[in-house]
Order: sequence, then structure tokens, then C-alpha cells
Amino acid sequence: AKASGRDTHRFYAEAMNAEAVAHLSTRSSLRRALERQEFLIHYQPQVSLETGAVIGAEALLRWNHPDKGMIPPGAFIPVAEDSGLIVPIGAWVLAEACRQAARWRSQGLSLSIAVNLSALQLQRNDLVRTVTQALADSGLDPLLLELELTESMLIQNTELVIDNLRRIKAMGIQVSIDDFGTGYSNLSYIGRLAVDKLKIDRSFVADLTRNHDSAKITAAVIQMAHSLNLTAVAEGVEDAETLEALRLLRCDVAQGYFLGRPGPAEAVERAARQVNPF
Ligand code: C2E
Ligand code: CA
Ligand code: CA
Ligand code: CA
Repeated sequence: AKASGRDTHRFYAEAMNAEAVAHLSTRSSLRRALERQEFLIHYQPQVSLETGAVIGAEALLRWNHPDKGMIPPGAFIPVAEDSGLIVPIGAWVLAEACRQAARWRSQGLSLSIAVNLSALQLQRNDLVRTVTQALADSGLDPLLLELELTESMLIQNTELVIDNLRRIKAMGIQVSIDDFGTGYSNLSYIGRLAVDKLKIDRSFVADLTRNHDSAKITAAVIQMAHSLNLTAVAEGVEDAETLEALRLLRCDVAQGYFLGRPGPAEAVERAARQVNPF
């Protein structure tokens, strides 16, 4: 085993901490999981609020653990980020998601594919190469690829991050801000970094119909998006009332359990072929 000095140091420093030990074992099993191809992607449909049509999907990472079954990303992405493993895992997600979207395209379905990026990926000088490779290998039209970033990732907008985003935009790839409204209050980056979409965080969307403040915030974000020529996406739509409220607010796109849970690609395919539900 090639335990690095840093690992060894961390181990002794935190050996008494059960959580830290679990963390280390998760790290080595993550490495194995990547080699053994235990990761898979679930896809969640994104629906146009104008037409009711499925227009794309978000790629959501899952770990199909041999003993523990399907593990959600919240349980292992923090470890993957701490250990740097999110870089090869993220590259795999990008490649696989692009392959799936290209498959849909060859089946006559023009669906965009949204991929979540980690801060670590955005801060690397090989990001553009990784993205270019995923597009070239899959043959996917860059216009169908969308990268999701969070506000906090844009606060440390180093020259490298700005350059990465500029080059990604120049390729025709869409950029959206995920969990919008939960991060930083300084919005100046939106104009400077030329993003395309704002994804309103599901904490606002979820109680839109019950909480007046959430309704006001959601309405304000949609208005702001439109005045900046951005697309407004609502995530976490769990019932018909919320969907209707978002349509009245002229939100552009919606995503949530009510419209489709994350699942295998075939479920998105079926939904995309259905006549619109509105
Ligand atoms: P996210 O990007 O905000 O993704 C949306 C999360 O909300 C997903 O959880 C999704 O299953 C869940 N969701 C969708 N609709 C509803 C709804 O109507 N109600 C509720 N309560 N939840 C809903 P998931 O799949 O567990 O992913 C959690 C987070 O893990 C994601 O949040 C994202 O930050 C991260 N993640 C997922 N896949 C990747 C990946 O490939 N790379 C990176 N870096 N992060 C990822
Ligand atoms: Ca996301
Ligand atoms: Ca989100
Ligand atoms: Ca999130």
C-alpha cells in the first residue's frame, strides 16, 4: 500500500476519532469503487413550464455499493472532495453523462444534460481538456451540455476559474448557478461570468405555496433572471400547486419529484416521448 505521508499524519492525528476512521475507510473504498465501476448515474427530468415537454435531465451520481446498496452522493461526495477523488470521479460523470445525452440524440431525443461540478474541478487547469474529451468521445453537441456550479465556487474567482468559465462558455456550453439564493449575497459575478441559468434552491420552492417569504424570494429571483436574460429553473417541485404557482410566476423550467424522480435513463426517455402533461 502506498499510504502518503499526509494520510499517515491525518491518521495519527485523528485516530481516536471514529468518524475520521470511517472517513479514511470511505476514501479507500471510493478509490476501489471507481476501479470496480460501482458508480452510476441517475437522471432527473427537467420540464419546460411553457410547453410541459421534458427538455433535459440532470445527472445525479450514485454509488451502488456491493454490500450497502445504493448510496446517495451526500454520503460520499464530501470525502471524495477532501481526498481529491472527486476529480477522476467527476471526469467519469462528465463522460458518462455526455454518452447518455448523445445516445438520446441518436434516438431522436434532443435533451440537454446538466452535470454538477465540484469546486476542485473548476479550479484545475485540465478542466477544459476533460470537458473537450467528454464531448469528443461522445460526439455530443456542446450546446446540449450544461455545467452546474454553486455560488460559493464563484466567490474565489481566481484567474484560473474565470479563464475556465470563459473557455467553457466559448465552446457553447451552458452554465447554471445551482442552489441559487443560499450562497453569497454579492451578485456581481452573474454579469461578469456570463452565466445562463439560475436554479432556485429547493428550500424556497418547497414551501412556495405555504410561506409568503419563500414566494416573494422565488418571484424576485425569476424576475431578476429574466431582466438579465437568464433562464429561471425551479428545483424541488413536489406537488401540482407548486408547479402551477411557478407557471404563474413565469418560471421557465422545473424539476422535482412531482415531475420525475431521479432514475435510470429509460425513465427520462419515456417521459420525453409522452405528450405534454399540461
Ligand atoms: P443538487 O445538485 O442540488 O441536486 C438536487 C438534489 O435534490 C438531488 O439529490 C435530487 O435527488 C434531489 N431532489 C430532486 N427533486 C427533489 C424534490 O422534489 N424534493 C426533494 N426533497 N429533493 C429533490 P441527490 O441526488 O441526493 O444529490 C445531492 C447533491 O449531491 C446534489 O445536489 C449535488 O450537489 C451533489 N451531486 C450529485 N451528483 C453529483 C456529481 O456528479 N458531482 C458533484 N460534484 N456533485 C454531485
Ligand atoms: Ca445540481
Ligand atoms: Ca440544487
Ligand atoms: Ca446542492
